[in-house]
Amino acid sequence: SQRIKIKALLESTQTDIDVTVKGWVRTFRNNQFIALNDGSTNNNIQVVVDFENTDPALLKRITTGAAISVFGLLVASLGKGQTVEVKAKTIEILGDSDPEKYPLQPKKHSLEFLREIAHLRFRTNTFGAIFRVRNSLAFAIHQFFQEKGFVYLHTPIITASDAEGAGETFHVTNFDLDNVPKADGGEVDFKQDFFGRATNLTVSGQLEGELGAMALSDIYTFGPTFRAENSNTTRHLAEFWMIEPEMAFADIVDNMDTAEALLKYVIAYALDKNKDDIEFLTQRLLDEEKQKPQNERSEMSLTEKLQFCLANDFERLTYTEAIEILKESTPNKKKKFQYPVEGWGTDLQSEHERYLVEKLFKKPVILTDYPKEIKSFYMRQNEDGKTVAAMDILFPGIGEIVGGSQREERLDKLEERMDDLGIPKDELWWYLDTRRFGACPHAGFGLGFERLVLFVTGMGNIRDVIPFPRFPKNAEF
Ligand code: ATP
Ligand code: MG
Ligand code: MG
Ligand code: MG
Repeated sequence: SQRIKIKALLESTQTDIDVTVKGWVRTFRNNQFIALNDGSTNNNIQVVVDFENTDPALLKRITTGAAISVFGLLVASLGKGQTVEVKAKTIEILGDSDPEKYPLQPKKHSLEFLREIAHLRFRTNTFGAIFRVRNSLAFAIHQFFQEKGFVYLHTPIITASDAEGAGETFHVTNFDLDNVPKADGGEVDFKQDFFGRATNLTVSGQLEGELGAMALSDIYTFGPTFRAENSNTTRHLAEFWMIEPEMAFADIVDNMDTAEALLKYVIAYALDKNKDDIEFLTQRLLDEEKQKPQNERSEMSLTEKLQFCLANDFERLTYTEAIEILKESTPNKKKKFQYPVEGWGTDLQSEHERYLVEKLFKKPVILTDYPKEIKSFYMRQNEDGKTVAAMDILFPGIGEIVGGSQREERLDKLEERMDDLGIPKDELWWYLDTRRFGACPHAGFGLGFERLVLFVTGMGNIRDVIPFPRFPKNAEF
């Protein structure tokens, strides 16, 4: 008969039927009870083995990690914490697993250790839950935009533009390694690396996204982006996924409304669809917190934090207002900020952002109207001549999760800004064309997908919420 997924089996209201289940053995107790998991849920199905009538050679091969197929009778279970179990009639070993060598022993492993065996960590309850939540969030993002009539636009991964001129790009090369073209000084000539021209992996699809929005009205991208920054933090990866909507005929307020609605929609979706997984992750965090002294434990559980985020409007304030607050504030009675906020004009450090979000407002914060000097050239200049219509969304425990802005649609203002910053206008002629032919007010933002997954799963390190993290010295598989 057809294989039934364990999640469906556990939810089944029918019993006394024959079923086939397949999965990986988590544990095998007393030659009698197999805890079997197939990744559809963290809950294992219990398989009861009739060991007296089973070949001892087969029993020996039912080891942790082995892949097996079980045909048997689904019956109501008397065991604690389960409603059904399978009484095995036949068991087939699909793939043996040497219990001596299997890296995932049935005990708790550290996240650091599991990162070194990222190819197997999917089989743990923690990572099963994380990647099912990640899956739901990705699906919900598409659903949100599709319901609103946005067009999913694919922007290039190989590009000659580096979006912000930040210089944090990876070069793309088709060099024959034995015959690398050298410029005069003997340096590798990256100007030739992609069939004779310089290209890099995309750091953002925004500029291309704007081109799409200038005809399709509302678009979004959802793809990998790459930054050659030294991503040795718990919030940065060298390869991460970004969602970048771009909306024509929209201003900064529409932008904030859309971002807030999106975040709430996808969090609500995951809370509903992945109830069990989020409960598991919540419990995992509670157990972890028990190790900490009372006063360092968080006031809310993960589930409560997510629900709180849905139930409350995000706090909206300007950069200038934030600076005024931060000048007067200290993170706690004893400690000052490491970088005291002295005046207007400098970018906020993460300690400042965390103070606003975690201590003061205790909820997501949208900061707007940053000084133009610390933001990108394409952001729309405000009437004050000093600020731009930028917005950053800051999340508790995460910091910046979204960066966006209303875009500068006025050609003269945009060119003036590019000149000031020394950004070559001829290289971005295609971008400037959208300001020459039918320019209109428009806005958009970038949501870092892994930062979102980090928030919803309550994990502490961004390397644990992407299947195959890319960070310095880590690209083997
Ligand atoms: P940060 O200040 O945290 O370095 P950023 O301002 O450089 O972020 P943006 O260019 O605004 O980032 O990119 C948009 C979003 O992409 C960010 O708000 C964040 O959620 C995410 N993001 C940026 N850099 C990374 C990275 N290296 N790894 C994972 N996510 C990232
Ligand atoms: Mg950055
Ligand atoms: Mg930033
Ligand atoms: Mg940003």
